Amino acid sequence: AAEEGFDIEDVEGAIEAAGHGPLPVLAVIGRPNVGKSTLVNRIIGRREAVVEDKPGVTRDRVTYEAEWAGRRFKVVDTGGWEQDVLGIDASVAAQAEYAIEAADAVVFVVDSTVGATDTDEAVVRLLRKAGKPVVLCANKVDGPSGEADAAALWSLGLGEPHPVSALHGRGTGDMLDAVLEALPEAPAQTFGTAVGGPRRIALIGRPNVGKSSLLNKVANEERVVVNELAGTTRDPVDEIIELGGKTWKFVDTAGIRKRVHLQQGADYYASLRTAAAVEKAEVAVVLIDASETISVQDQRIVTMAVEAGRALVLAYNKWDTLDEERRYYLEREIETELGQVAWAPRVNVSARTGRHMEKLVPAIETALEGWETRVPTGRLNAFLGELVASHPHPIRGGKQPRILFGTQAGTKPPRFVLFASGFIEHGYRRFVERRLREEFGFEGTPIHISVRVRE
Ligand code: GDP
Ligand code: GDP
Repeated sequence: AAEEGFDIEDVEGAIEAAGHGPLPVLAVIGRPNVGKSTLVNRIIGRREAVVEDKPGVTRDRVTYEAEWAGRRFKVVDTGGWEQDVLGIDASVAAQAEYAIEAADAVVFVVDSTVGATDTDEAVVRLLRKAGKPVVLCANKVDGPSGEADAAALWSLGLGEPHPVSALHGRGTGDMLDAVLEALPEAPAQTFGTAVGGPRRIALIGRPNVGKSSLLNKVANEERVVVNELAGTTRDPVDEIIELGGKTWKFVDTAGIRKRVHLQQGADYYASLRTAAAVEKAEVAVVLIDASETISVQDQRIVTMAVEAGRALVLAYNKWDTLDEERRYYLEREIETELGQVAWAPRVNVSARTGRHMEKLVPAIETALEGWETRVPTGRLNAFLGELVASHPHPIRGGKQPRILFGTQAGTKPPRFVLFASGFIEHGYRRFVERRLREEFGFEGTPIHISVRVRE
C-alpha cells in the first residue's frame, strides 16, 4: 500500500468504514403530532421537512441511515401513518408494535406540553413487554420553562425523560448520546445471537401477489383466512417451516396472515411492515404476480431489499394462469423493469398448484451463498490487475485513473474497497461490478463497492 502512495492508516480506516456489518435499527414511535417526524429529520440531518407532507399522502420510505458521534445506525420513521379506521389507540399500538419488533432500541416521543395520555400509557405497556431498550424523549421543551413538564414524565416509569425541542434542536445531542448507549453495535436479533439458528426469510411483495397462499403452501396447511382487525389476535410473528430438509424462519408472517383492510395509511402500513421484515431477515423472497404488469410498487419492494443489503430471490407467482402471450411480455418487462437485479435467482411458481415449490429452497441457498462469499485478497488483486491491464479506465484530462489494489472489507453483503490513483467514473465502477460477478458469482446478492482515491 505504501509504495502506491496510500498511508497504511488510510487504508485500514477505509477498510473498517466499508466493512461495517448490518447497522443497528432505532425506531421512533409515539402518538400522532408529538413531533416524531420533526425529530427524525433532526437525527438524519435532512433538509426538507417531512412534516410538510400533506396528510394522507403515503410515503414508502420509512428507514433512513443516520450517524451520531461517528456511529452509524438506521432510523425507522413511523411518523407517516395517519389515524385510520382502527381508531387512534389501535393505530398507534399496531404501528408501534411493528416498529418495536424491527428495532434494536426505541425512542419513545411524548409531547411534554400535553403530558402522558392513556395512549402513551398503552405504548409503555407494549414497550415493557418487548423488553427493548427505550429512550424517553420529552418533546416540545422549547425553553427552560418546559423542563418541569418534562420531569413530570418520570411517572411513565421508563427512566429519565430527555427534554428535547425537535423543532429547534435543543437537547437532541444529549438524547442521541443516550440513544448510542442503548443501541447495540450490531443488530443482535438478526446477526448476533441468531448465529447457527435457522436462516431468516422475509416473504414480501405487494398486496394480492400470493404471499399468504405461498406461505400456506410451504407450511403445508390450509388456514382459514378471516377479516381480522390488527391487534385483535396475536399471531406468532415468526414462523418456523421445514423446507427441502432444512428449517427456515419466515419472519414477520403475522402481517401476511392478518387480512387488515385499512383505508387511510394502508400503503404506509404495508411499507413499514415490509421494511420491518427485511430488517429482520437475511434473505428476501420478493413475490411478483406474473399475471400482471410489473409495477412501480414491485420495483420499490425489490429496491427496499437491495438497499437494506439483503440476499434476494425473485419468485414469479401465479404461473398457472399465464398464456404464451403473457409469458412473452413478462420476459420483456423483467428485462426493462428489473434489469438492475438480473443477478437475483429467479423461480416461476404457483402457490395454487404447487408448481416449482421445490426450486424455492435451492434459489434461497444460492442467494445466501453469494451473500456470504469472501474473495481472498490475493485472488481479488490478481483479478483486478488483469482487468486494469486489459480494460483500462478511459483517459480524462490527460490522466488515466487506475485501480491500484483492492480488498473485500466485509460480507453479508460483500463489500469491496478499491484504491485508485484518480477519480473512477460511474460507468467504470459498473463495469468492475459486472466483471466481479462474472468472475466470482455473487448470485443473489447486492455488492457494495467503494473507491478511495489517493490524495
Ligand atoms: P408526528 O406526527 O409525531 O410525526 O409529529 P410532527 O413531527 O409532524 O410534528 C407535529 C407538529 O408539532 C408540527 O407542527 C411540528 O412543527 C410541531 N413540533 C414538533 N416538534 C416540536 C418542538 O420541539 N417544539 C414545538 N413547539 N413544536 C414541535
Ligand atoms: P397476499 O395478499 O400477497 O397474501 O395474496 P393472497 O395469498 O391472499 O392471494 C391473492 C389472490 O391470489 C387470492 O385470491 C389467491 O387465491 C390468488 N393466488 C395466489 N397464488 C396464486 C397462484 O399461484 N395462482 C393463482 N391462479 N392464483 C393465486
